[in-house]
Amino acid sequence: CGIVGYIGTNEASGILLEGLRKLEYRGYDSAGIATVLEGEIHCVRAKGKLHNLEEKLAGETNPARLGIAHTRWATHGRPEEYNAHPHMDMAKRIAVIQNGIIENYRELREELKRRGCEFRSDTDTEVIPHLIAEELGKAETVADEPLMEAVRQVVQKLQGAFAIAVICADYSDELIVARQQAPVVLGFGQGEFYCASDTPALIPYTRAILTLENGELARMTPLGVEIYSFEGQRLKKAPRTLDVNP
Ligand code: GLU
Repeated sequence: CGIVGYIGTNEASGILLEGLRKLEYRGYDSAGIATVLEGEIHCVRAKGKLHNLEEKLAGETNPARLGIAHTRWATHGRPEEYNAHPHMDMAKRIAVIQNGIIENYRELREELKRRGCEFRSDTDTEVIPHLIAEELGKAETVADEPLMEAVRQVVQKLQGAFAIAVICADYSDELIVARQQAPVVLGFGQGEFYCASDTPALIPYTRAILTLENGELARMTPLGVEIYSFEGQRLKKAPRTLDVNP
């Protein structure tokens, strides 16, 4: 129900948890966080309140500078830890959070299973990391921006209202965000960039905000943000400055 992402020069985990706290008003039944740390995805999830997730993370130092975090309001699959986001592909190289509903997940899940994919959750969301893993295999041989291209191919197969954020252990300088009928805002800092379901999660860090529109993808790196249409066209968009009462 709430998504947050960070890429930049600071430690991601504190910023992500703080962002989730700011999105608590949206309601949730579980929470989770994934970062890219030393070439691996480090994923921690917990049922219940954010406090439970924080307890699991307590005492851990995590210098990762790229990550995503999620508060889930279950629509498909019980509110259990194994259904909490982020969800990963089989090789645990890709982590995905999703806000919304993937209407055609059953068909996609059956197709993936037929191709040998094993599922670890009951959610509509888990098809996404598996599909990205398949597409990434193809994109790495042809595309300039393989992760962006793989996510772009996958979002075109998804039906429903969704916002997703994707990280991959093999692309430790990239955060990919996509929107179709569910809200996402991007925040622009100095060499650091954010995404979130809503502006309260970004206000402590930046007032330079860009609202991602339906059918748009963002490729975020520590150097900047590129916006593309789902059809692959590069779009020219600039952030606006949010007016906030002191
Ligand atoms: N449909 C997804 C799930 O049940 C996401 C729900 C949400 O937006 O929190 O996991």
